[in-house]
Amino acid sequence: MTGQRITNALTVDVEDYFQVSALAPHIDRASWDRRECRVERNVERLLSLFAEHDARATFFTLGWIAERYPHLVRRVLSAGHELASHGYGHLRCTEQSRTELLADVRRAKEVLEDVGGEPVLGYRAPSFSIGANNGWAFDVLLEAGYRYTSSVYPVHHDHYGMPDAPRFPYDARPGLRELPITTVRVLGRNLPAGGGGYFRLLPYGVSRWALRHVNDVDARPTIFYLHPWEIDPMQPRIAGTTLKTRFRHYVNLARTEVRLASLLRDFRWDRVDKVFAPAAA
Ligand SMILES: [Zn+2]
Repeated sequence: MTGQRITNALTVDVEDYFQVSALAPHIDRASWDRRECRVERNVERLLSLFAEHDARATFFTLGWIAERYPHLVRRVLSAGHELASHGYGHLRCTEQSRTELLADVRRAKEVLEDVGGEPVLGYRAPSFSIGANNGWAFDVLLEAGYRYTSSVYPVHHDHYGMPDAPRFPYDARPGLRELPITTVRVLGRNLPAGGGGYFRLLPYGVSRWALRHVNDVDARPTIFYLHPWEIDPMQPRIAGTTLKTRFRHYVNLARTEVRLASLLRDFRWDRVDKVFAPAAA
């Protein structure tokens, strides 16, 4: 299979279970500092799994997390992974003004560079919140000094998505590459294939088929994403959420680590900047 030889991009959105956008209506931001922290042990677990399978990844990290757990950022970098930005406070681009977004992405970049001691080139919007109506967010990222983003998911979804966006990397602006999350084209529609809730919900064989299809038929590397809390079935449950939100957040958490190990075994993985070399593009 030719797909075995393509190296794919593995990405982690580094946030804790209480910072997830879908749970945000039920969690006061002021309570973040008082909540039980799970991100350290979950990132450590991911680092061990990646090391076992000789995989490198890009860690899109919240400035909020880097400020509180600087040693975690340094652990990620010393293991050979790429540090990138997930913004400072996990606000969607769609809920910020241009001025607010600029302040958020600048602050995140400064914190991450201070802690990590390396330039931060990449950004991922919380909840893939760059879509058809806020292309100005790309101008903001360029202004803040980012060189690439991975913030568009070209699918239909009730919380995010830009189904008509290109499926593969493109220049969102001169000097700023957008690297969309992987989709697979089936019967004229883009289906999500790049991780998240779908990876937990569907049997692993479906994800493997989709990623191989992109490697073999489209002859392209894929971009896959996950969160540290997705391998943590023991995380505290957030009360008051809807059935749909609960299902999406908690489905198959106990199975994800085993699936992830299969994914790491079945494909080759590296950091975004190595797979797509955006700085050289
Ligand atoms: Zn996020």
